[in-house]
Amino acid sequence: MRHRIAVVGGGPAGLTFARVLRRHDHSVTVLERDPAPDARPPGGTLDLHEGLGQLALDKAGLLKEFRALSRPEGQSMRILDTDGTVLRDWRPRPDDRANPEIDRGQLRDLLLGPLDVQWGRSVTDVVPGSRDGVLVHLADGRQETFDLVVGADGAWSRVRPAVSSATPHHTGVTLVETFLDAVDTRHPDLARLVGDGSVAVYGVNRALVAQRNSGGHVKVYALFRATLDRHPDLDRHAGPHRHASLDTDLDTDLEAGSGRVDVEAVRSSLLALFDGWAAPVLDLLRHGTAFVRRPLYVLPVAHTWTHVPGVTLLGDAAHLLPPLGVGANLAMLEGAELAESVAAAPGPGDLDAAVRAFEERMWARAGRWARITAAGLERLVSPDPAEALALFDEVQPS
Ligand SMILES: Cc1cc2nc3c(=O)[nH]c(=O)nc-3n(C[C@H](O)[C@H](O)[C@H](O)COP(=O)(O)OP(=O)(O)OC[C@H]3O[C@@H](n4cnc5c(N)ncnc54)[C@H](O)[C@@H]3O)c2cc1C
Repeated sequence: MRHRIAVVGGGPAGLTFARVLRRHDHSVTVLERDPAPDARPPGGTLDLHEGLGQLALDKAGLLKEFRALSRPEGQSMRILDTDGTVLRDWRPRPDDRANPEIDRGQLRDLLLGPLDVQWGRSVTDVVPGSRDGVLVHLADGRQETFDLVVGADGAWSRVRPAVSSATPHHTGVTLVETFLDAVDTRHPDLARLVGDGSVAVYGVNRALVAQRNSGGHVKVYALFRATLDRHPDLDRHAGPHRHASLDTDLDTDLEAGSGRVDVEAVRSSLLALFDGWAAPVLDLLRHGTAFVRRPLYVLPVAHTWTHVPGVTLLGDAAHLLPPLGVGANLAMLEGAELAESVAAAPGPGDLDAAVRAFEERMWARAGRWARITAAGLERLVSPDPAEALALFDEVQPS
């Protein structure tokens, strides 16, 4: 028997789920709010870990293509003191494939492949329990019915309320993102500073991280500890804040020239926040061309729910974590594992049992990572910058 399955959201979780199901000859409806794959900037680079994101790609039959696209050299990591002194300069061995980097846009296109995504279909809510299945309401006023609805719709999931009353809360840390283009030709000094991978600078309750993407593009993240009502300058000039997930359709409003953002005012607020740091480090902010403010939100650590037949969650919808390099990895592995479980479940009773078993496994693993990343964020944006260095030494292979 063929189950009627929908996944809400075409991010890493939803696309991996759909791709692995397809590999098992199972059809799935993918409902995605964005009107097109390139409707908004895809975001920065992701490192996919061997036992997580890469394992998911293997289950999707895409590992070889990933290896051809990804950048193992992007694993390089340099840590500077706020005065510019190099404290650590770690480079991977030439054969190191533990955590290669890939641009989000490249990953999305790889996962999309032959998938038939329904673009521009925004889900408003999901109602389980009807005799015919789970009802999905869409913003265009239509509704559809499925045997299983998978919420892979990110931090502010519209599917989540069908199973849980949990909502994301602010971590106390805000991230402001900017970027540099053609860095090798326009800003060769900054290109050297960032190297092939990332450079990070940790100060008291703040940090600057710059990551090389492909094509000479560099993303810069300024992180600082502040309540949501602090830094009125940034608020006033950067417009309403954006949450830490990338699933917002409003990011482009913050691009330079949109008329909504006073880019120079945001820049000077940030430079004041990082006052006293070495000039080459601050150049990362001086040359940034647009700013997006993302207060970091998380779901409660080890978020679980009472199982609801016909509905489940994946990725950020299930366990929004601080962005410390695992969210997309977990999302993809969960997508792959749920798809394999569903494909192996022939009858309706089997489907529900498969989803229940999957949830138990997801909760245990995501709970562990939620604790690790919550503690990690406390140490990376901390009153004692030595904590960030100590954390790096604990996790980095020598
Ligand atoms: C700055 C930053 C850096 C990060 N770096 C890393 C990293 O290096 N490594 C890593 O593993 N993770 C990283 N993460 C975390 C990672 O981005 C997320 O964990 C990951 O994107 C979660 O994937 P997802 O598919 O669950 O959700 P999302 O990527 O948020 O995708 C959700 C999708 O659902 C769609 N959607 C939303 N609402 C609806 C609706 N109502 N109807 C239909 N569709 C809808 C959205 O348009 C979107 O396409 C980072 C996060 C941030 C903010």
